[in-house]
Amino acid sequence: MIVTLRSDADPEAVRRALVERGLWVRALRSERGVSFWLEPSSASVDPVMLRGIEGVDAVAAPDPGHPRVDAQSPVVDVGGVRIGSGMPPVLMAGPCSIESEAQVRRIAERLAPAGAQFLRGGAFKPRTSPYSFQGHGEQALSWMRRAADATGLRVVTEVMSAEDVGAVAEHADLLQIGSRNMHNYSLLKAVGAAGRPVLLKRGMAATVEEWLASGEYLLVHGAESVIFCERGVRGFDPATRNLLDLGTVALLSRVHGLPVVVDPSHGCGRRDLVAPLARAALAAGAAGVMVETHDAPGEALSDGPQAIEPEAIPTLLEGSPR
Ligand code: PEP
Ligand code: MN
Repeated sequence: MIVTLRSDADPEAVRRALVERGLWVRALRSERGVSFWLEPSSASVDPVMLRGIEGVDAVAAPDPGHPRVDAQSPVVDVGGVRIGSGMPPVLMAGPCSIESEAQVRRIAERLAPAGAQFLRGGAFKPRTSPYSFQGHGEQALSWMRRAADATGLRVVTEVMSAEDVGAVAEHADLLQIGSRNMHNYSLLKAVGAAGRPVLLKRGMAATVEEWLASGEYLLVHGAESVIFCERGVRGFDPATRNLLDLGTVALLSRVHGLPVVVDPSHGCGRRDLVAPLARAALAAGAAGVMVETHDAPGEALSDGPQAIEPEAIPTLLEGSPR
């Protein structure tokens, strides 16, 4: 936002008034005098209130570029589960990869009584190495759907390419866009066109504005709703797999009023840190968590070191205020 001043204003008094309201300001000087640029990291303020400050002439707010995201309800319904602010935290859990029909069934049978609402799992896997297990594809979608139907769970799974949107939409309640595809605009258009709720993971080096713009792509092309999922950004320190950005979770949830869930499994890469980070995420304002669970992590075809036991998922909610 840019705040311009009247010619008779005292710029220092206006600057103080802005800083008092939690705004980070940068003075812009021109032949027309001083105006102030409000940094995006500032507190949120009502332009009408800013116009009321003595000496302020006008407040210009740039077009946010994501009007549909801004207008989205803070609570969305996916398969009868309401997800968002003020709702009980939602638990999405399951293996990194769907490895066999028996595996997903065994895990679902342990997750449902533990309190999960969504079964997660990759049928199409975005692996960094082409030599790693790539997923069982379409047949894994049916295995997952059957396991979910037998246990009363909903399905969330990733769609990696436009040609698979139909099959994934047929089997899943919630279509997941993975971190590596957040910037894949042709995929976002194709997934949006399915007219279904979407879980949009944050790109591993995406700014909040880029993430919101990807959400806008989905909504403008027809997605029913978008749930944002923070899964850690690329940090400078390999001590944890990624850098779980809970500041942004608080910002999206509490300032933007958007449904956001957190994936602490990919966020830290270690099973011993999953529960504390899940609790921190809920305290920050997350509407739920997505975690990887496995019944034999040592045998997992992908991401075994971060998988927790299905029975451990209630511990993720310990101390949750909701
Ligand atoms: C996943 O959730 O299966 C996954 C691959 O995560 P991400 O896209 O966050 O790496
Ligand atoms: Mn994984």
